[in-house]
Amino acid sequence: MIQLYIPLNFLGVIYREIKQSLTDLDKMFTLMEREREVDDAPDAKPLEVSAGRVTFDHVSFAYDPARPILHDLSFEIPPGKTVAVVGPSGAGKSTLARLMYRFYDVTGGALRIDGQDIRQVTQASLRQSIGIVPQDTVLFNDTVAYNIAYGRAGASQDEVEAAAKAARIHDFITATPKGYETMVGERGLKLSGGEKQRVAIARTLLKNPPIMIFDEATSALDSANERAIQAELQGVARNKTALVIAHRLSTVVDAHQILVMELGRIIERGTHAELLALNGRYADMWRLQQAGDDAG
Ligand code: ATP
Repeated sequence: MIQLYIPLNFLGVIYREIKQSLTDLDKMFTLMEREREVDDAPDAKPLEVSAGRVTFDHVSFAYDPARPILHDLSFEIPPGKTVAVVGPSGAGKSTLARLMYRFYDVTGGALRIDGQDIRQVTQASLRQSIGIVPQDTVLFNDTVAYNIAYGRAGASQDEVEAAAKAARIHDFITATPKGYETMVGERGLKLSGGEKQRVAIARTLLKNPPIMIFDEATSALDSANERAIQAELQGVARNKTALVIAHRLSTVVDAHQILVMELGRIIERGTHAELLALNGRYADMWRLQQAGDDAG
């Protein structure tokens, strides 16, 4: 009986392993499926980032032709500056990030980096130049070290730790019994939304791309965590061209320019001070959020 039990139990473990890796494969395929939306042009060249200027030139976009999402958007992120996008849910903010990373192609206008239309460059070179910290970071069922090093193949343990320190996740990692060898993800240590984002920040720091996209998590972080992540981000984005999709206005106060989006259009733009002086939609949002914070 015991003899029979052990192999069955062992099979159970293997089954769970397989099932788990299938879950991971599933995720990979979902990601690849999205990437398959676009192909490299036959004469695609590597993107050459000199300064890091991002230009949205009369960009329109629809996931489904029957339902336009973005309408004739033009704006520029100057080299080394941060442009923040705010607006209600469904306004099209995350869609801007998806277009920049070229998960989809624009349906009108053009998106350029240092003058090169991103449809004319190889996807590999484009994605090499852009770091994304997404709303929901996918962690692999592997060690925390692997998950950070994924930002740059061949990174040394010292480099991984330096990135983790800068993203302020090092102390948390070393406090776990296995440290950097701790398994994370569904099969291992479950990380909070904020901790996952720090892993993503560390990954991006290691990748050290000239252009950054940060899609702020909608899930409420407590305000201490929120402030810490903001401080980390400012460090990460320093001297980089950055697009920040913000759900909390406190994140955007220092941005070079803030775009207020509604129903796929930019309805206001300016610095925090300019938009407050305009006394329009942004000023309303700011007052509402301040009142909420005070009540909180
Ligand atoms: P949130 O603040 O909630 O993240 P958002 O401003 O980032 O919202 P988007 O995610 O850009 O909004 O979505 C804009 C619109 O596009 C929404 O109406 C959404 O339903 C639609 N949309 C998003 N992704 C897809 C998709 N893959 N296929 C079809 N429609 C989509």
